[in-house]
Amino acid sequence: MYLKQIEQLVVLQKVDDEIVLLQEELKKAPLRITELEKNRQEIEDNAAIIRDKLKYLTDQQKRLEGEIETDTMRLKKSKSKMMQVGNSKEYHAMMREMDNLEKQNRGREEEKITVAEELARQNLELKSIDEQTTELDAELAVARQSLDERLAVAKARLAELDARRAEACTAVPKPILQRYEFIRSRLKNPVIVHVEAGICSGCHISIPPQSFIELQKGIQILSCPNCQRLIYWRDHIAPDPEEVAAAEAAAAEAPEE
Ligand SMILES: [Zn+2]
Repeated sequence: MYLKQIEQLVVLQKVDDEIVLLQEELKKAPLRITELEKNRQEIEDNAAIIRDKLKYLTDQQKRLEGEIETDTMRLKKSKSKMMQVGNSKEYHAMMREMDNLEKQNRGREEEKITVAEELARQNLELKSIDEQTTELDAELAVARQSLDERLAVAKARLAELDARRAEACTAVPKPILQRYEFIRSRLKNPVIVHVEAGICSGCHISIPPQSFIELQKGIQILSCPNCQRLIYWRDHIAPDPEEVAAAEAAAAEAPEE
């Protein structure tokens, strides 16, 4: 009876270990997507700034072209009027005005080149941003797909674990189960731990010899007086073959002392 209960508590503990891991994974899984979405937003914001710049530069370009055209027309008119000018004073005034118009237009032509260069630069930048966006979108699509798959697998596994948990719970008396849940809600995992050579594997502190003797008798379920976790004597439970294999593999890999 006692052994069966301890056995089921250990099963319960294993199930809960895996549930804790899965829940952590479920919590962490969407973080990559959040990060990618943040990058995507930053790039999108940059693109918006560049589009504004491009609009401003295009407006500048149009304004300059308009002004150049207007002044070119005025120059042409002035040139044809030169022929009809009567005195030299008027002639010089006209020459000065034409000089001014030409000078202004030369300045505008220079400005137009600068604007065109800046337009080319910003267009290149926008193109590179568009490429980054396309890449990020592809990465996001893959990440979302794999997240969906991982979530589906984890959820299916959680459902399985819930069923195993319910099964293990039926074998454990209610007060002990309540103690298990109480400890679980207050202490860091695990809830039930083994005692080996008189030492609690939850807090690594010796339990009193009298308690250890009681524990070895295997009559009632005891708690560690130090950490309050449920305890059982290691020799009461056959070691998990998977864990033994893992420990042996680890020992074989570890360098000799
Ligand atoms: Zn302890």
